[in-house]
Amino acid sequence: MTAVIEEKRRDIDFDIEDVVENIIRVYPTKVAKKRRKHIVVRDPSEPQEIEANVRTVPGIITQRGCCFAGCKGVVIGPIVDMIHIVHGPIGCSYYSWMTRRNQGVPREDGHYYLEYCFSTDMQEDNIIFGGEKKLRAAIREAYEIFKPKAISIHATCPVGLIGDDIHTVAKEMSKELGIDIVAFSCEGYRGVSQSAGHHIANNGLFEHIVGKDDIELDGYTVNCLGEYNIGGDAWEIERILDRCGIKVASTFSGNGSYTEYRRAHMANVNLVQCHRSINYMAEMMETKFGIPWIKVNFIGVKATSKSLRKLAAFFEDDALTEQIEKVIEEEERAAEEAIAPYRERLEGKTAFLFVGGSRAHHYQDLFRDLGMKTIVAGYEFAHRDDYEGRDVLPYIKVDADSRNIPELDVEPDPERFKPRKDPEKLKKLKEMGIVDTYEGMMKDMGSGTLVVDDISHFELEYLMKELKPDIVCSGIKDKYVIQKMGVPSKQLHNYDYSGPFAGYKGAVNFAKEIDMLINNPSWSFAKAPWEASPLIKGALIIE
Ligand code: SF4
Repeated sequence: MTAVIEEKRRDIDFDIEDVVENIIRVYPTKVAKKRRKHIVVRDPSEPQEIEANVRTVPGIITQRGCCFAGCKGVVIGPIVDMIHIVHGPIGCSYYSWMTRRNQGVPREDGHYYLEYCFSTDMQEDNIIFGGEKKLRAAIREAYEIFKPKAISIHATCPVGLIGDDIHTVAKEMSKELGIDIVAFSCEGYRGVSQSAGHHIANNGLFEHIVGKDDIELDGYTVNCLGEYNIGGDAWEIERILDRCGIKVASTFSGNGSYTEYRRAHMANVNLVQCHRSINYMAEMMETKFGIPWIKVNFIGVKATSKSLRKLAAFFEDDALTEQIEKVIEEEERAAEEAIAPYRERLEGKTAFLFVGGSRAHHYQDLFRDLGMKTIVAGYEFAHRDDYEGRDVLPYIKVDADSRNIPELDVEPDPERFKPRKDPEKLKKLKEMGIVDTYEGMMKDMGSGTLVVDDISHFELEYLMKELKPDIVCSGIKDKYVIQKMGVPSKQLHNYDYSGPFAGYKGAVNFAKEIDMLINNPSWSFAKAPWEASPLIKGALIIE
């Protein structure tokens, strides 16, 4: 049970089960009962269940955000050629203004609004008398100034409470201005985390934008789903796919484009990077248009090659397979050569990963490339299928907190449903683990490692003190607490303003930065010299 951790901390006498029990013991009985279900000590010999996607315990200092953050901040906000209006008081808009590093570039038509922050800036009057009038005025003003191709409206907490009908406003304004205007009811209190916002965003994008233009695409084409181009990740993935002879038709939604989504249904296959935020879109596109999806991971050298080989198996074209193998051979060799000196200095070190809903799994592959082990991993807002694999989907109960997130009723499109593979072939590819399947994070974690869902601040600090990881990868809220404890911290949300970390070149960037962090001499100064070893020695002699 304690194998992996003991290997690293031979000098420390502890049992991982005791560590967990000591955490739980600190909580009041009711909280202890709840939190125990969110912590799993991995035992690969048996199927294990974790509690996830349920309400956070009040006052526990969670790292979670809200539904608005998941919808506007994560999925819709990165679309470069739409104007995204936040309907609410200024806070939500201001704090999410360019703080997520989803990069983008203007297309030939020049529409590009990423650097702006659009808000209706609701005041007391709008809360009392309603904000619809102000919202209409904001849409008209934005249209007059920028003439965008499409606009999105995002509800914040008060909007649902006062009853503003943003969907009717969107419909009427769309008619008046002659452009697509899509409203998202993503009030912060919906669901229990960012996750509800992802689902709402997927629904709105799918219902109102995806699949509007039947424009044929040439060659092998894919959509990259759940890739947000943090620090340029999507561009590195695009570079590699391009070398293989595969074109990216659209990316949901890093550097994403409204125009590209309208014809995204014409691609051959969807590649799912972040399963949590975009699996709804993958499922709905498959049902309506017949596009299968492949779970990929472009984080890590070996993981990138494995994902490319899945694509080769899917397309079944000898020339393409040959080209993919050539790219893998060249890129792997170059990346491994560049990583080798860092790996020498990192081999055997341990990592503690706590990220949103996918990276705590993806980065384990990259750490493996560096010779490092992940001893704790967890998610803010993942569901059980992200931890345990999609086989558990039929057994997940939707509780009262998530029941108000609509599930769309999707049917095959009578004219445009086009199966990409015959059903037998598809079944076989699924059995081989290539299409329409995801095994989750836990299966990749060894005996005695820890999986923690919706970690509390106390749990994070306690685990750090007990397990002494060499690096903690999480977000901005706890970065400086971790570093003040003398432990290097790498932000895996915004990459500490660096990147890309995806693909082969990204892996080299990451290796360099992890080496710089862990082997930085500054950590040896965290303790004052007189604390580490006393400078003055004295003796009291009594005669
Ligand atoms: S919880 Fe409400 S107020 Fe806070 S950021 Fe989310 S939408 Fe805005």
